[in-house]
Amino acid sequence: MNCWKNNFNEKTLNQAIKYKNNIENINYDGYTFRATVKSKFSVELIIQDNLLFDMSCSCAKKSSCTHEAGLLYFLEEFPEILEDFTNVTEADKISDLDVSDDLKVISDTKLKKFLKKEFKKNPKLKYNFIKQFKSESLIDSKAYEKKLKSILRNGGKEMGFYKLHNMRTPLKKFVKKDIPLLIQQNEYELAFKLLNDIMDIFNDQIYWDDDAWYEIAYYYREYVYFLLENGEFGEHDKMRVQRNLSIINDLVI
Ligand SMILES: [Zn+2]
Repeated sequence: MNCWKNNFNEKTLNQAIKYKNNIENINYDGYTFRATVKSKFSVELIIQDNLLFDMSCSCAKKSSCTHEAGLLYFLEEFPEILEDFTNVTEADKISDLDVSDDLKVISDTKLKKFLKKEFKKNPKLKYNFIKQFKSESLIDSKAYEKKLKSILRNGGKEMGFYKLHNMRTPLKKFVKKDIPLLIQQNEYELAFKLLNDIMDIFNDQIYWDDDAWYEIAYYYREYVYFLLENGEFGEHDKMRVQRNLSIINDLVI
């Protein structure tokens, strides 16, 4: 690929490297290379004869963003993918062959040995393997959302006020333990959303006489500043965080 890095500034390039492991739904018709980045952003690259002509992304930035750069890093690592999509005729022939009988008799050892060898010369296979078997250990975002919901439900409003005594300990634990775990796994958007879900409910009712609340606010600010610096968020999310931060900054030193 030609010098694609010239289209991006250094900060974008540095952030984008990690997205090369977050590529899905690859498709290439010999002209437009399409993929989903971070399970969310649709990126299109116009590539012909290994030259990059144009690119676009569905994110707010639209172009020269980290998602495009992440996809280009991915292609830099696995350039064979472009060829694989172009050479479909051979793949078509093979797809008609039935190997189920052969799979029944092959030993685990032989299979593992074969895979190891294939991974070396076929990065796309290795990529698919990693994606398939690593995905099971990835974060289950629904579980985190459910956990927070149940904490907030237990501390639900009574006579117009949240029962902070019911949620103080689990909420503090959630902010101190679960959020950094998500950040460690690069789940920035989910961490950001959950932190603001917590903060939003305190907008009108702040328990300034409660130590747990101070602690929650302190960690919120720490993590949110980190996320703002390292992640990319939509306008709506940024407005939420500005509102929450202004309340906290007025009152927590
Ligand atoms: Zn983008």
